[in-house]
Amino acid sequence: MRDDSYRHKGLRLAMVRELRQKGITDERVLAAMEAVPRHFFLDLALIGMAYDDTALPIGCDQTISHPSTVAMQSQLLDVHPGDKVLEIGTGSGYQTAVLCQMGARVFSIERQQPLFVKTKRLLADLRYHAKCFLGDGYQGLTEVDYAPFDRIIITCGAPFIPPALMTQLRLGGLMVIPVGEQQQEMLRVTKLGETEADWQVERFGQFKFVPMKEGRSFKQ
Ligand code: SAH
Repeated sequence: MRDDSYRHKGLRLAMVRELRQKGITDERVLAAMEAVPRHFFLDLALIGMAYDDTALPIGCDQTISHPSTVAMQSQLLDVHPGDKVLEIGTGSGYQTAVLCQMGARVFSIERQQPLFVKTKRLLADLRYHAKCFLGDGYQGLTEVDYAPFDRIIITCGAPFIPPALMTQLRLGGLMVIPVGEQQQEMLRVTKLGETEADWQVERFGQFKFVPMKEGRSFKQ
C-alpha cells in the first residue's frame, strides 16, 4: 500500500484552498477531497503532479479529471449520506472514492476492461465500498433492484442525455452530465416527471471530457 505522508496531506490542503478560490463552497465536497489521497489513483511516474489542478493519463487513452472538475461535479450533485449514486465512467476511481467518502452508496460503470479490473481492486484495497461494473453506461444498470438512483453522474462527454439513465433516476433526482461533442456544457438535470418536458435543465459552463463511447470494450 502506498504512503499518505504529511507532505501529501499538505499538498491536499493547498489543493483544497485552490478549490475554494475557484468557487467551490460545499464543505462536504471540500472535506472529502481533503481526505481522499488522489496520488493513490495515479501511476507512480505521475505522483508528483497528483495535487496540481490538471487532468492526467490513466491508461487506455483515458484521463483522470481535474480536481476542480471533480469538485464542481460533486458539488452540483448535492449528495447526502446514504444516497444511491450511479456513476458512468469509473476511470481511475478517484471521483468514485470522493463520493464514497461523502457517504454515498456508489454504483460505477466502466467500459474499458483493463481500467475496470484495476480500479475495482484498488477501491476495494482502499476500503471504498463502491460496486463496480464492466458495461455500457448508455444502458445504465438494467438488472432489477439497482435502480432507481437518487443521483447520476456522468464523467465522460455525452452527445445527448441517455434516455435509459433518465428512466433509472428517481423522481426528484438529479443528474450531472457534460453534454457535447468537442466541448461539453455541464448540465444538471432535475427529473420532475417521466417525460422530457418535465426535466428541468440548469447550465454550468464549458468543460472538456474524453468522449462517452457506445458499447463495452475489452481491448487493452
Ligand atoms: N471519473 C474518472 C473519469 C475517467 S475518464 C476519473 O476521474 O478517473 C472517463 C471514463 O469514462 C473513461 O475511463 C472511459 O473509458 C469511460 N467511458 C467512456 N464511455 C463510457 C460508457 N459508455 N460507459 C462506461 N464508461 C465509459
